[in-house]
Amino acid sequence: MAKNAIVTGGSRGIGRDIVKRLAKMGYNVVIDFVSDTSQKLASDLVSEIKSQYGVEGVAVQADVAEYNSCKRIVDTAVKNFGSNIDVLVNNAAISNGISFLKLTPEQYTRLINVNLMGCIHCSHLVMPYMVKANEGCIVNISSIGGLVGVSSGADYSASKGGVIAITRSLALEFGKYNIRVNSVAPGFILTDMLKKAGEEGIEKKRKTVPLKGIGEVGDISQCVEYLVNAKYVTGQTISPNGGVVMP
Ligand code: NAP
Repeated sequence: MAKNAIVTGGSRGIGRDIVKRLAKMGYNVVIDFVSDTSQKLASDLVSEIKSQYGVEGVAVQADVAEYNSCKRIVDTAVKNFGSNIDVLVNNAAISNGISFLKLTPEQYTRLINVNLMGCIHCSHLVMPYMVKANEGCIVNISSIGGLVGVSSGADYSASKGGVIAITRSLALEFGKYNIRVNSVAPGFILTDMLKKAGEEGIEKKRKTVPLKGIGEVGDISQCVEYLVNAKYVTGQTISPNGGVVMP
């Protein structure tokens, strides 16, 4: 039977590499994105995974902050690939990088809605399919910011800590259905999100990392592949971070 996956925020950065990794593993993939400017990126990725790995891809523009948009993502998977959704990767997120008192309620509410509520909505929507199949795997992309405090990132840290908490809770509740829920908490990875820190900011971060400095997207997708295959692992958070945080 064909294997099927959903990746939120699959158009760029870490999510894009996760899509490619899952495609290489033989998964058809629903690729979610949100920005009009990423439409071509997402549709090019659909063509790329088809030609390179012979799997099907479908791009869906949907804001994970909205429950009904998340429903559209899941409905697209079912319509195109059938009701077996084997893997969900909750990857879509934003960062503000703003000092707490300068953050507006609109900014921190939006961030929590995207980073945490998006993960909750998508998990809530795929879970019935996984329960019915008595099998499934959810990988939530958290951050080292969910493991330690982040100055000028309280909202981000709270959202990513929440992602780790829901990972454990769902793993506990749904283990009996053979559904595994794990999380990956990346350190500094060179993507558009990190580039917002500027060259000087990135250099500062690089100096704090005991291993090779800033990581690459493949360092994260490699862990996702491991978790998808690791049949006795659930409720865990793996943190590929070059040793910058040792929880
Ligand atoms: P990125 O380069 O900024 O890419 C973000 C992705 O999320 C894009 O595909 C974007 O879609 C999508 N997205 C953003 N808001 C969305 C929304 N409301 N609905 C649907 N999709 C949305 O970020 P990244 O660095 O690859 O980050 C990926 C994950 O890794 C995130 O969970 C992030 O928190 C985590 N992480 C990253 C780092 C790092 O250093 N890069 C470190 C720790 C954790 P569009 O292209 O349509 O905008």
